Amino acid sequence: MHRPVKRIALLGATGSIGRQSLEIISAHPELELVAAASGSQPIDGLAPLTQVGGNLTDLLERAEPDLVLNAVVGFAGLDATLWTLERGIALALANKESLVVAGELAIAAWERGGGLLLPVDSEHSAAFQCLEGRSRESVDTLVLTASGGPFRGKSRDELVDVTPAEALAHPTWNMGPKISVDSATLANKGLELIEAHFLFDLPYDRIEVVVHPSSIVHALIRFRDGAVLAHLGYPDMRVPISFALTYPERAATPIPQLDLAGGLTLEFTAPDLETFPMLALARRAGELGGTNPCVFNAANEVAVAAFLDGRLPFLGIAEVVAETLDAADGAAPRDRDELVEADAEARRLAERGVGVA
Ligand code: NAD
Ligand code: MG
Repeated sequence: MHRPVKRIALLGATGSIGRQSLEIISAHPELELVAAASGSQPIDGLAPLTQVGGNLTDLLERAEPDLVLNAVVGFAGLDATLWTLERGIALALANKESLVVAGELAIAAWERGGGLLLPVDSEHSAAFQCLEGRSRESVDTLVLTASGGPFRGKSRDELVDVTPAEALAHPTWNMGPKISVDSATLANKGLELIEAHFLFDLPYDRIEVVVHPSSIVHALIRFRDGAVLAHLGYPDMRVPISFALTYPERAATPIPQLDLAGGLTLEFTAPDLETFPMLALARRAGELGGTNPCVFNAANEVAVAAFLDGRLPFLGIAEVVAETLDAADGAAPRDRDELVEADAEARRLAERGVGVA
């Protein structure tokens, strides 16, 4: 069968998601890489159009893609997400931060554009697949699983002196530095909670987070009749990347099939919100709405960078974020420029917090 070529623009091509995406793209002749961008590493020759730094929407304008894979890390991915959604171009979204900070604006742009929004985050890809074709009324709750990160089971006292190297040693996923630290603080699951709220139009009290150390079950949906659908698979981002890039075809991948008879057991527990306050802070920021999720994200980006630089202890990350949320006004952004202002103001407040921590 002859399939039409899908023209892909890959933003964040040198990162963990970006490199795994290149592997999937090169395995499928019908996926054509037309543009690639990175933040600072050179990528000459990787695609017909390449760009290092600069304005990502300029590159997208020139590339005329059928699908944008946004695998940039952090707030820097915002404009590319809004640009793609507004135009009804398919968006494969790894950059969860853009949906967290711009929730209502992004969803409004998506509705105007009318294109596909395919989550690449493994939990959201899983939930998307469990929800496909079901009515919203039939859904009771969405359950997101968290590995618990490298510090699962530790007390606050044991976390006082942990180093960046320890925080970066994730037990089940091999990822970029920012999301690895976010997994160690549980901020990542907090961002994912807000991401899920916007992606699936579910109120926060219908989204639960459970700790599941082996990362085999990525998400579950409880339906009103008592049935539960779960999505399982080995933790390998090439699966959700391939799902998004080859949707709706679900092409083959090199990932091994799940071995059940080998003795697979699945364990779930409640998250420890006292030791890992970032999850509760994110839930509160999400429930408050307005620019609170944007403030949460900005303060977290500043605090994580300071922790990785050795300027802030691990437990200081949540302190800086909590103080910044208290100090910021949180008013709803009317447009993208107000969001950029809220982000900048939150970064100033958080830098001040890092300075006195
Ligand atoms: P990474 O740090 O490995 O890579 C980030 C990429 O973004 C790099 O290519 C970098 O050059 C690029 N970048 C940074 N700033 C940029 C800018 N201003 N303009 C253009 N490019 C820029 O990060 P990652 O782990 O690949 O994560 C990327 C995104 O995917 C994050 O939002 C993360 O939360 C999400 N995500 C990652 C994983 C994973 O397994 N790594 C899983 C789920 C979600
Ligand atoms: Mg995830």
